[in-house]
Amino acid sequence: MPNELIFEKSRPGRKASSIPACDVPVVNLKEAIGDHLMRKDVPLPEVAEVDLIRHYVNLSRKNFGVDIGFYPLGSCTMKYNPKINEDMSRLPGFTGLHPYVSEKWAQGNLQLMYELEQSLCEIFGMAQFTLQPAAGAHGELTGVMVMRKYFEMKGEKRTKMLIPDAAHGTNPASSALCGFEAVTVRSNAEGGVDIDHLRELMTEEVVGLMLTNPNTLGLFERNIEAVAKIIHDKGGLLYCDGANSNAYMGITRPGDLGFDVIQLNLHKTFSTPHGCGGPGSGPVGVHKKLVDYLPIPRIIKKGDVFSMDYNYPHSIGRVKAFYGNFNVMVKAYTYIRALGAEGLKSATENAVLNANYIRVKLEPYYDLPYKRICMHECVFSGSRQVNESGVHTLDIAKRLLDYGFHPPTIYFPLIVSEAIMIEPTETESLETLDAFCEVMIKIAKEAKEDPELLHNAPLTTPVRRLDDVMAARQPNVRWTKE
Ligand SMILES: *Cc1c(COP(=O)(O)O)cnc(C)c1O
Repeated sequence: MPNELIFEKSRPGRKASSIPACDVPVVNLKEAIGDHLMRKDVPLPEVAEVDLIRHYVNLSRKNFGVDIGFYPLGSCTMKYNPKINEDMSRLPGFTGLHPYVSEKWAQGNLQLMYELEQSLCEIFGMAQFTLQPAAGAHGELTGVMVMRKYFEMKGEKRTKMLIPDAAHGTNPASSALCGFEAVTVRSNAEGGVDIDHLRELMTEEVVGLMLTNPNTLGLFERNIEAVAKIIHDKGGLLYCDGANSNAYMGITRPGDLGFDVIQLNLHKTFSTPHGCGGPGSGPVGVHKKLVDYLPIPRIIKKGDVFSMDYNYPHSIGRVKAFYGNFNVMVKAYTYIRALGAEGLKSATENAVLNANYIRVKLEPYYDLPYKRICMHECVFSGSRQVNESGVHTLDIAKRLLDYGFHPPTIYFPLIVSEAIMIEPTETESLETLDAFCEVMIKIAKEAKEDPELLHNAPLTTPVRRLDDVMAARQPNVRWTKE
């Protein structure tokens, strides 16, 4: 019964609403508009209120979320977001304001955006931020456009962008959209940038390096000063993909490490639920030599009055309608103000501590390709299980579902075979981490003793193994009457 579709529950004439008796003149629609617009026989479900409620509640209970249980995909996909952020973003003064309202009546909103920009400058050590981009990848595109403008203004023709092999796929895509050829830099044995390879590739044809730090292996670049020097010595710019900055905020600042441009993902680090593709916000911060090229309008403050300033002739222009995704900014602002400087720092410390706790606890049972202290996430490989019993990372992930845990990210980063990337995040307790590790250890034992069990997992979920490629490429979400 609970698995019945709403269409199958339908019985002719059953209703979930009662409409009051008509007290206006009755219009014959067929005469008024002709019947070409009227579809007959649309098989809409007809159900009672109680069936309707059960239908939606049952659907919601099939979904796993971070408010239900541990979700080790981390801030990259979904960390726990404090509910006070939601409360603030729902204040009617924020949600009810029309984007065309005059600046005079939007002073509070402009102030919030201005102060958020200032906070981000302080936390990340940059001269200026724009809040316009609507996502991380959009921020990358904006940042790379700013870099392109910088060289255009200097009259230099540069055509290539260096990108480490551990980078997020959006980095080469953003470079390509700006007309640059993406050139891959190898990682070294300890998971950092291969300095010799970087030196070899860095020429005066190169715009710069797009570096994720810590990288997608969760490792902090140990040679960051040397990397910055190699790029800057050839006149290039150093770009930081700061999507997951909960590994260092409050501890170190990209601006101080030599980065010239950074994009942040407010919807990751600064706490907005962003499943299923939105909404996001990807602010871009720059070194003072790049400030003139940031998108317009920019928010300025004169005395106590905030306004939008369009007077930047060398700006790359607008990248988003109105002001960007304001609602996400309210959540980020609340998160920063609620935690304060000390709180942000301890969020970082807990994110790093939790990831290292899992790294050490699971290392005896799973291969750890890079044996060093990690930052916000640790990356294991399922290779040992593949070699010993033919159990793959996918089987391990599916088995976790039987134990009530959401699986971590798997098969990413691509440079680790059978990768299992675990990001517990800052909010999880010792008990939760222990429970998760216990289950991971149990699964490692099952892999040895009963590989078939893992090949068949999950056994307890409403549906078993789905064809996820088909589901993504050719989703069939339409019910048709037989
Ligand atoms: C998530 C992520 C991105 C892309 O951000 P979107 O908001 O999904 O466009 C880019 N780089 C890294 C390292 C990320 O984790």
